[in-house]
Amino acid sequence: MQHSRRHFTRTALLATAGCTTLAQQLLAQTTTTRYTVQPGDTLGHIALRHGVSESTLKKTNQLSSDLIRSGQTLKIPGGSTADNSAPAAGPIHHVELGDTLGSIALTHGVTIGALKRANQLNSDVIRIGQTLHIPALVSTEDLLSHVRAATDKITVRRDNWKRIVVHHSAIKYGNAKKYDAAHRQRGMQNGLAYHFLIGNGIDSGDGAIEIGPRWTKQLLGGHVKSYRLNLTAIGICLVGNFEKTHPSKKQLDAFTQLMDWLQGDVLKKKTHFAGHRELKGEQTICPGKHFPLAAMHARYD
Ligand SMILES: [Zn+2]
Repeated sequence: MQHSRRHFTRTALLATAGCTTLAQQLLAQTTTTRYTVQPGDTLGHIALRHGVSESTLKKTNQLSSDLIRSGQTLKIPGGSTADNSAPAAGPIHHVELGDTLGSIALTHGVTIGALKRANQLNSDVIRIGQTLHIPALVSTEDLLSHVRAATDKITVRRDNWKRIVVHHSAIKYGNAKKYDAAHRQRGMQNGLAYHFLIGNGIDSGDGAIEIGPRWTKQLLGGHVKSYRLNLTAIGICLVGNFEKTHPSKKQLDAFTQLMDWLQGDVLKKKTHFAGHRELKGEQTICPGKHFPLAAMHARYD
């Protein structure tokens, strides 16, 4: 039963590829399951894993942004089982003479555990002719590895940092080097005012995190007007003018990865989080009306 329904969903998806409306109708006819968001999940990963589109997932759950929180329950339209890790669609493998779970897992670049879960196998025994569903590859792109590596080489002044402030650059161009030069010209001898800069794909990579010297040297920021706040606030800036445009998905991915890591692994405490304009005495609209501040507060407060 389980098996045939999953097969139907997959067939329906394949048959209507390129015809969104029909696919959505078919999906709407299948069952809805629930999924509990795990740490590190993104909407994209969950959609991929369950063989549904991100927009369908958002519509079903009436989400206005891509942000989700660990522990949140999402409705998965047309989901195959209630099991969190079971995919609804994906390639299949017909077991041949000499195949083992291990060899099949290796061939498809998945783990044996994922393969067993996807096929509800209780043992490693498989039979010739058996059809196995290959779980979708969940590629969690790590946008942080260079930041972790650079931070491993320094001593973070953990006790000093009390808050993290997010900014937009208010201009769609620029990268760490250009802003550094501009800030020095404005008389900031430590250069780039922020500790981290997240690119938008124009003058640096989309979602690429650039590390400023104020982070590697653990210097005070120059990103808010108040000197007192600058002493204890880590500044993260996303390149772009978010009064006019939205931050890219990759920029938000990078931002949440950076925030999760700073709060959870580096500072190991709930650090006060604020958008620039929320700080007392700072007269600014930064980080712009399109930056999802409310969702970030829900995640980091
Ligand atoms: Zn700002």
